[in-house]
Amino acid sequence: MAIAATEPTSVRSFGPGTALSCRECGQRYELTPKFACEFCFGPLEVAYDFGTVTREDIESGPNNIWRYRSLLPVPTNVAELPNMNPGLTPLVRADRLAAELGFDSLHVKDDSGNPTHSFKDRVVAIAVEAARTFGFTTLSCSSTGNLAGAVGAAAARAGFESCVFIPAGLEEAKVVMAAVYGGKVVAIDGNYDDVNRFCSELIGDPIGEGWGFVNVNLRPYYGEGSKTLAYEIAEQLGWRLPEQIIIPIASGSQLTKIDKGFQELIKLGLVEDRPYRIFGAQATGCSPVARAWEQGHDVIQPVKPDTIAKSLAIGNPADGPYVLDIAKRTGGSVEHVGDDEVVDAIRLLARTEGVFAETAGGVTTGVLRKLVREGRIDTKAETVVLNTGDGLKTLNAVDAGVTATVKPSLAAFTAAGLA
Ligand SMILES: *Cc1c(COP(=O)(O)O)cnc(C)c1O
Ligand SMILES: [Zn+2]
Repeated sequence: MAIAATEPTSVRSFGPGTALSCRECGQRYELTPKFACEFCFGPLEVAYDFGTVTREDIESGPNNIWRYRSLLPVPTNVAELPNMNPGLTPLVRADRLAAELGFDSLHVKDDSGNPTHSFKDRVVAIAVEAARTFGFTTLSCSSTGNLAGAVGAAAARAGFESCVFIPAGLEEAKVVMAAVYGGKVVAIDGNYDDVNRFCSELIGDPIGEGWGFVNVNLRPYYGEGSKTLAYEIAEQLGWRLPEQIIIPIASGSQLTKIDKGFQELIKLGLVEDRPYRIFGAQATGCSPVARAWEQGHDVIQPVKPDTIAKSLAIGNPADGPYVLDIAKRTGGSVEHVGDDEVVDAIRLLARTEGVFAETAGGVTTGVLRKLVREGRIDTKAETVVLNTGDGLKTLNAVDAGVTATVKPSLAAFTAAGLA
């Protein structure tokens, strides 16, 4: 059903979103800050009644994720509300990288250009709208680093208090980016999985009353933000799905929601229904999903992360089993690369395309190269690789510096062998 312009937003605060639905048993719930099924503990996700959505409607929208608001659980007037307004980041035609790896057509979806320099602004933007609707006063999260910055910034702009939780020992840039917006930043002595457990306890306690944890009690809404990556890639390819896509995996949410986004575009007739293959990418030092894939298991054995790709360092990924299903269904796979290859791939992407990726982008690009090396990806097929964060956040991962330091004279420049 199309939403009448006169309908009060309080009635349609979730736009086309109609219910929460259990991913396991299909049980439906009202749109509330609920994240697990009462019957089977399965994760809940937003169900929709889309009505008619046209390419023209979308193309005439704002140059950010709100152009897709008719596909998202947000108020109809969302573009007028204070929000970071992320999205519509470049889909870089990567001809030089394609030539180096032997692809006919390769693009890099470069999401480093979002307001806080990672893809997390997309998911937080949707969670903020839900938090506003539910009347939460504090925004919170358990974060591997990028989410903390995205929540801090969004809380500042939208007028929430914030208190975010990170594992101790994160990259300095991520800590500064989380703290500069003025909210509380709490480092937990432990890894991300400890942080996440602690946050679950907080939610159940009176201390956490009025708190919207974007990736816990607001997770069904948060997750939907990742669909905008799918919509943008399709629109930027000229309303076409890519044939192959490489996606990083932390909790696995982004990968499952990109698949959901592609499926919606097909169902709505916005793109042609053609097969696509989804490849998941992890760092070897935190590769529970890739291991399960290799061993043909459908349960994920949790691991203790040890990798420079800290933004992906989730040892017990909630959406891991769904990632395995999607890789299987689409004819893709789940792969891992070691930290040395991650660094190498960061350099490769920088050297060929002028894109400076954070370690997560090194993971996807490294996996892309590994798939080519092992002959397990079709280099004739239209392929997209995601870079989800900015290299400036993980500067210490790359050892790069000046070529030489010389006195300001032609003689010195020549003597140093630089002429
Ligand atoms: C959080 C994050 C991801 C993916 O996270 P999921 O939990 O799998 O959705 C990817 N890249 C970066 C840089 C991130 O910060
Ligand atoms: Zn259920």
